[in-house]
Amino acid sequence: MFSVLKNRYEQGYRTCSYPKEKPAVFGRYRGKPLVRQDASPEWVEICANACPQDAIDVQQKKIDMGRCIFCGTCEQISQGEFVRFTGDFEIATAQKEHLLTAGDLPDLARHSKQHFKSLFGRSLQLRQVSAAGCNACEADLNVLATPFFDLARFGINFVASPRHSDGIVVTGPVSRNMRTALLQTYEAVPDPKVVIAVGSCTLTGGPFSGSPEITEGLDKILPVDLFIPGCPPHPLTNLHALLRFFK
Ligand code: SF4
Ligand code: SF4
Repeated sequence: MFSVLKNRYEQGYRTCSYPKEKPAVFGRYRGKPLVRQDASPEWVEICANACPQDAIDVQQKKIDMGRCIFCGTCEQISQGEFVRFTGDFEIATAQKEHLLTAGDLPDLARHSKQHFKSLFGRSLQLRQVSAAGCNACEADLNVLATPFFDLARFGINFVASPRHSDGIVVTGPVSRNMRTALLQTYEAVPDPKVVIAVGSCTLTGGPFSGSPEITEGLDKILPVDLFIPGCPPHPLTNLHALLRFFK
């Protein structure tokens, strides 16, 4: 017992101070893109042709974060002439069309559903469904339970049964084999319920886009309330989305 207390005293308080203070992220992290509206059409064209995700809208000079896997190819080949990725991890949206951006995003709190705040603002239980994800999105959701992020301090927990939950958090491209299980899990959640889509796979098919085995966007089969882009989304992106949308 004494050694446990000694250990605790030596290690101190390890939980991050977010959302009070924004922690610094790793220097090579790519967050919200800032697109230069004065970029020459040639650079935009070159970047669009090089993009493996078909995520660049040439006409509007915007990037679709729902498709983007944040590989950085467009930033590297244009040397910042077209786009620069910032360290801003607060990139989730309540509407899918807001993911198409040149760098400006609406305040998520202003687009959240007020009845969700009153119902789930103090206690939110979520069931995670991995619908053929690669496990990176799932791993970055798992770390929210660690002492550094400590999701439970906000009254938000991941639970084992959909019958005990207020909504589902879906990752992966929703393969044909997982579709029935996902829909049954959704049905098992009592009303009113929320649906949260995490990662480019779930938002648009991501790297698997074009495959006949997947669903190209969870919103085609379920009413999605919250869209969290990334491949995978940073844990802080997930945390920001949950706090801003429900608190
Ligand atoms: S960072 Fe996104 S928009 Fe740029 S090339 Fe990669 S996938 Fe395409
Ligand atoms: S979005 Fe990326 S990290 Fe997440 S499951 Fe798909 S491939 Fe994996």
